[in-house]
Amino acid sequence: PSDETLLEVNNIEVIYNHVILVLKGVSLSVPKGGITALLGGNGAGKTTTLKAISNLLKSERGEVTKGTIHYRGERVQDLLTSDLVKKGVVQVMEGRHCFEHLTVEENLLTGAYTRGVSRGEIDADLNMVYDYFPRLKERRKSQAGYTSGGEQQMVAIGRALMSRPETILLDEPSMGLAPQLVEQIFGIVKSLNEQQGYTFLLAEQNTNVALRFAHYGYILESGRVVMDGPAKDLRENPDVKEFYLGMS
Ligand code: ATP
Repeated sequence: PSDETLLEVNNIEVIYNHVILVLKGVSLSVPKGGITALLGGNGAGKTTTLKAISNLLKSERGEVTKGTIHYRGERVQDLLTSDLVKKGVVQVMEGRHCFEHLTVEENLLTGAYTRGVSRGEIDADLNMVYDYFPRLKERRKSQAGYTSGGEQQMVAIGRALMSRPETILLDEPSMGLAPQLVEQIFGIVKSLNEQQGYTFLLAEQNTNVALRFAHYGYILESGRVVMDGPAKDLRENPDVKEFYLGMS
């Protein structure tokens, strides 16, 4: 990761339905070229943090009531999600959300929709996605609804890549996947980061895997960051080992 900070979340509070305080002052920063992990158990506030960044809370009756969110120094919290995509920030939602009736390739192409680029450039991007996810090339004519959970996760990441992002917010990539597939998906994320320079902020309950692949981690508990540090320090931390890595 470089010294340049892309995303800066400063002391944000999020309230659902005007009364339920879910984030109680969360701050984090995401350096360019890094893989930053947002860790914590079920309900800690990981998804809420990602949705606050990409301005997806409104449909859930949630709002950021305090604090600021900046991307490349610019305040972004009042931008439409689609404008944020144009600035290079794209979110891969938890649960993958493929268009089930479209083919794998059609799903990927929907990711390029907001861009005013030529078919040639889109084809080049498709080939890049297929290089990283050879499985998707094999399955490109299959209806997405009939592909496996792992393949759908690949489609969701591939679709995000088609918007030519700089930063990818990845929500719970391991969810519902067998351990071997989780390794595979994280391995691809790491290659995308190292070879193509994509910046990742990923929310993950699977602390063990996330801390092996990330550079830096933040641990959330009940809407607060309780610990943060370089991934290798967190892996060695006795509290993290006891409470999150299932060993002491
Ligand atoms: P998960 O792994 O389950 O997604 P998480 O760390 O991502 O966990 P969030 O989904 O951000 O956690 O949820 C944080 C808290 O906010 C939980 O207590 C949850 O019940 C609550 N919450 C989430 N969405 C809403 C909503 N639309 N309305 C009210 N409360 C909500």
